[in-house]
Amino acid sequence: MSVVVEKYDLVIRNTRIRGRPYDKTFDIAIVNDRIEDIKEHINGHGEVEIDAKGRLVSPAFFNMHHHLDSVLTIGDPKYNESGTLWEGIAIWAEYKKKITEEDILRRVEEYIKWHVAYGTLFIRTHADTTEKTLTTVKALVKARELFKDLVDIQVTAFPQDGIMTEPENAEYLRKAVELGADNVGMIPHNEYTREDAVKSIEVAFKIAKEYDRDIDGHVDETDDPISRNLEVVAKYTLKYGWQGRVTAGHVTASHSWDPAYRYRIMPLIRKAGITIIANPLINIYLQGRFDFYPKRRGMAPIKLYLENGINVALGHDCVLDPWYPLGVGDMLQALFMAIHVDQMMGWSDLFKALDLITYNAAKAWRKGYEDYGVEKGKKANLVILNGLTDVDVLRILGPPLYVIRNGKLIADNTGPERQLKVFYKGKWEVVDTYFHRATQPR
Ligand SMILES: [Zn+2]
Repeated sequence: MSVVVEKYDLVIRNTRIRGRPYDKTFDIAIVNDRIEDIKEHINGHGEVEIDAKGRLVSPAFFNMHHHLDSVLTIGDPKYNESGTLWEGIAIWAEYKKKITEEDILRRVEEYIKWHVAYGTLFIRTHADTTEKTLTTVKALVKARELFKDLVDIQVTAFPQDGIMTEPENAEYLRKAVELGADNVGMIPHNEYTREDAVKSIEVAFKIAKEYDRDIDGHVDETDDPISRNLEVVAKYTLKYGWQGRVTAGHVTASHSWDPAYRYRIMPLIRKAGITIIANPLINIYLQGRFDFYPKRRGMAPIKLYLENGINVALGHDCVLDPWYPLGVGDMLQALFMAIHVDQMMGWSDLFKALDLITYNAAKAWRKGYEDYGVEKGKKANLVILNGLTDVDVLRILGPPLYVIRNGKLIADNTGPERQLKVFYKGKWEVVDTYFHRATQPR
């Protein structure tokens, strides 16, 4: 009598799994790109075996709001000394004069490896459509294809300077979608008037409907409490039957909305099935700039939205660019900031926090949602985190130990000297996240 020993492509041993009791550990067997089995002990062995030593496994992270076109441009042509949004815009306007597809792709290629090493395998990026050449759109659509072994990218056509501010901007937005952008963006609070803001939202929805795209707007990114474009976005979401297909990024004004107004608007946002994307690192840094002390926190009230049955996820927004001088593409940093700013650190809150960069985000990402999670039959996009439970992960921070993409080990951060390693173009590569160009202030 012979005993059949099962062979798997990859087996993760001795891991805690988010969503299951933490007093037990499990083995996870992977075949091809999927989870074949999860049991307390799996017989047989894997081509690759990982001993998680009791650490927590989670589905890979999402970054739901990012500007890949500007990553790693910090200091060029100069550093932002005031640290304001406005100085950032001026520096970026200078930089943009010389931007090329090659330049964007080179920076994105370098940066994406950091992002992967830190466990984020899904990035939704904005691409500026108000540049006549649509260089960033073309480059980021290419990036989506070029780096698909490392990450899933969604590109949002983003009319940075507004849709109604120049007669041709709506046409460029449409062109960007024709060039392959996944989602239609908007920035109603940057239009000249409330009337134009409403029109711009309508234009975005028309394009989304015509090309069957989701909506991903910058909405009410201001401390101005009378910036109330989210209600208009909700109205059009219902009008076009786009429930579940709309995300509103930032919505920092909702922090400052009058409580009576918030009370009225919450059921409408829930009804429209809009996901709010907060960008905690950038919001806490760039908002509240017109306040002396006390300063507003300038981040969407995440807890309040969640309590009202509204989906919330997070973005990193910027890394080493004219608007944000820090960051390494680690979504745990964004999450760490979010739970402090919005005081979401009750003991039970801590065990839900990771949802903001995992399941909640997957819901808004939509594509492949049914395949997302640590369950038998689902795609193996996993991170083995540096902690035994969610609380450890949020306390200790830093990169995960291992990252698995579509069933393959793609990042291994267990080497000496805190080395990060990513599997790219058929070989292991040490990822250097130091910023070598940094200069000291004179
Ligand atoms: Zn943004």
